[in-house]
Amino acid sequence: MKILVPVKRVVDHKVNVRVRADGSGVETGNVKMSMNPFDEIAVEEAVRMREAGTCDELVVVSIGPKQAEDTLRTALALGADKAILIESDERVEPLAVAKLLKELAAREAPDLVLLGKQAIDDDAAQTGPMLSALLDWPISSFAAKIEAKDDALEVIEEADNGREVVTLPLPAIVTVDLQLNQPRNVSLPSVIKAKQKPLERLAAADFGVDLAPRLEILATRAPDPRPEGKRVGSVDELLAALRSHAGLLEGEAR
Ligand code: AMP
Repeated sequence: MKILVPVKRVVDHKVNVRVRADGSGVETGNVKMSMNPFDEIAVEEAVRMREAGTCDELVVVSIGPKQAEDTLRTALALGADKAILIESDERVEPLAVAKLLKELAAREAPDLVLLGKQAIDDDAAQTGPMLSALLDWPISSFAAKIEAKDDALEVIEEADNGREVVTLPLPAIVTVDLQLNQPRNVSLPSVIKAKQKPLERLAAADFGVDLAPRLEILATRAPDPRPEGKRVGSVDELLAALRSHAGLLEGEAR
C-alpha cells in the first residue's frame, strides 16, 4: 500500500500565540514553527504500517512557504521515503489544499491519504472531507485505530457517543485523532540520514487550479484575559464561591 501524508507547518503548540499589533493575523516572525501535532500522529501511523510491511511507500507533502521544507525533513527523519513541497507564499485555504492534493493524488496514485483531523492554526478540520468529496473516495474521520485488511481498512473512529468501527475500500482517506498513537522522537542519526532522502519542489501556481481564498479575514483579536483565580480554604468555601459565581441560591443548586 502506498500512503500519502499531508503535513502542515504551523506555530508550535507550546508557543504563546500573539496577535499582530495591527490585528491582521497571528505573529509568525521569530516564532517557533513545527509540524501540526495531528500530522505527526498521521506520519507515525504510516511509519508503523511501513515497519509492519503493510505500507511499501510513504510520501509526505506540505503546501506552504519554502520553510515548510523543515517540516518535510522532520517527516523524512521520522521514516517517510520521499517528500514533496508544493510551494506557495500566499494563504492557502483548506479548499485550495484539497484541490492541490487531488491533483497530487492523480500523479502519485496513493492507496491511502492519511491526514490530521485538523490543523491547530485555523482548526478548520475541512481538508480531509473536502478531498474525499473531490476525489469521490470514502473517508473515515477521527481514527483511533487503523487496521489494514486485504484491499480495505478497518477503522475505529472517535464518535460523540463512543467509538464506531467502519470498513472502507481502498483507495481511501482517513483523518487521525489523538488516541491513535504516541509519535516517536526524532533521533539525530535519522535527521542526518533524512538529508539524503528525495525532496521534490513544485510550485502551487503550476497546478492549474484556482487557489484564490474564498474567505476574507476582517480582524483577528486575542481572547479576553481570564479573570484571576481565587484560592479557597475548604470545600464549603469552594461550593459557596461556585454558587455565588453561577448566581445560584443554595436551594436551587440541589
Ligand atoms: P485543516 O482542514 O486546515 O484543519 O487541516 C486538516 C489536515 O489537512 C491537516 O492536519 C493536514 O494533514 C492537512 N493540511 C491542511 N493544510 C495543509 C497544508 N498547507 N499542507 C499540507 N497539509 C495540509
